[in-house]
Amino acid sequence: MADQKIKVATCSLGGCFGCHMSLLDIDEALIEVEKHVQFDRSPITDIKNISKCDLGLIEGGLCNEENVHVLKDFRENCKVLVAVGACAINGGLPAMRNGIDVQDCLKEVYQTGYNLTTDIIPDDPEIPRLQEKVQPLHELVKVDYFLPGCPPPAPAFLELITALLEGREPNIDYPHRRFD
Ligand code: SF4
Repeated sequence: MADQKIKVATCSLGGCFGCHMSLLDIDEALIEVEKHVQFDRSPITDIKNISKCDLGLIEGGLCNEENVHVLKDFRENCKVLVAVGACAINGGLPAMRNGIDVQDCLKEVYQTGYNLTTDIIPDDPEIPRLQEKVQPLHELVKVDYFLPGCPPPAPAFLELITALLEGREPNIDYPHRRFD
């Protein structure tokens, strides 16, 4: 492995953080990984702004305008960008709303849904606008690798990071290439 640490950034766009939980599931191997990796922007560090990085791991699809901004920022700053999990790769669960008009979604969530106590749809300018459709990452930027699964299993994360540290292509075993 390389002597110098590589810089890694991670973030969740329209995702549930399950992919991040799976990354942490590599358990004691994290101790070895930590010797070779310095985390930049990530929920692990709570750093909010990305700087130049070797690797960017992004979970979640593009649901709103802030997601689009963050993705472009990652693409600009990361040498290698990885779409992590079903939501980043094909929209996943958040994309289930794609067959419904976005205004109808908002009405259902805030006005007509069961047992609601408010009929106001929040529209503060600081709240990121929803996209009409949830999009996967590759529809907006070039993605270098796709790590499938919901979430991808921990050994798949470990192989991806190890391969990049060793300067070779990742080779993820078939049982760890999950599509559910
Ligand atoms: Fe969560 Fe699955 Fe989406 Fe990952 S792929 S963010 S685990 S719903």
